[in-house]
Amino acid sequence: MNLKRPRFLPDGLGPNRLPRIPNNSWGRIFKTLWERWGDPYWWPGSGAWEVAAGAILTQNTAWTNVERALAQLEECGWNGPEALLAAPVDELAEAVRPSGYYNVKARKLRELAKWWLETGRTARAALPDDDSLRDRLLAVWGVGPETADSIACYALGRPFFVVDAYTIRTVVRMRDLDESPGYDELQEEVHRELPRDTMLFNHLHGLLVVLGKEHCTARNPRCEGCPLQEMCIMNNKNR
Ligand code: SF4
Repeated sequence: MNLKRPRFLPDGLGPNRLPRIPNNSWGRIFKTLWERWGDPYWWPGSGAWEVAAGAILTQNTAWTNVERALAQLEECGWNGPEALLAAPVDELAEAVRPSGYYNVKARKLRELAKWWLETGRTARAALPDDDSLRDRLLAVWGVGPETADSIACYALGRPFFVVDAYTIRTVVRMRDLDESPGYDELQEEVHRELPRDTMLFNHLHGLLVVLGKEHCTARNPRCEGCPLQEMCIMNNKNR
């Protein structure tokens, strides 16, 4: 991916430290995407907090807008949870304006910062149970499943696969479904089929984003040259 910020990896993770990938449906999808693009180099951030803040800011907007909002937070010196909480709320909203929905996002950032100071930064030691960490994240105002899993996986190094619009679109087309699968349903399927491994889920989500940008675009997907072409029912039907 083309990033201005460096990629952040939680302690203990290495980009090439991957488990044995099974030869089932999700295993084949991962292996095929990995062979084509390799490490997608995701998620950008100078530290765990910035990754978590980015997960809020990226809601309903493109990453380029998040980069601008993060740069403004940095410029104001509000790039840590303590400093962010001390910032005047209206000025904080102004700083994150490039990411859209800026009043709401300022409030969400403040709620996440409070959680972070109470729980998040000690999460690895204090909350060994992944599911209870996720539940606590979901209890934070403004944090839904995609945001919770992004923070759990990319900021805190927990093995949760992030389902997003790119993933759902690709799955719907590959299986020629009439209805989109639900978030939990799709995540449970991936967790069942693949080893519960943070680095594997980190790469898989990043690779599906690359696929969604390069080939499986919202309109007029570019199936020619798509690495998943042979596994895709929609593509095979249209041949
Ligand atoms: S073959 Fe086409 S529809 Fe299928 S996953 Fe690739 S881009 Fe999407």
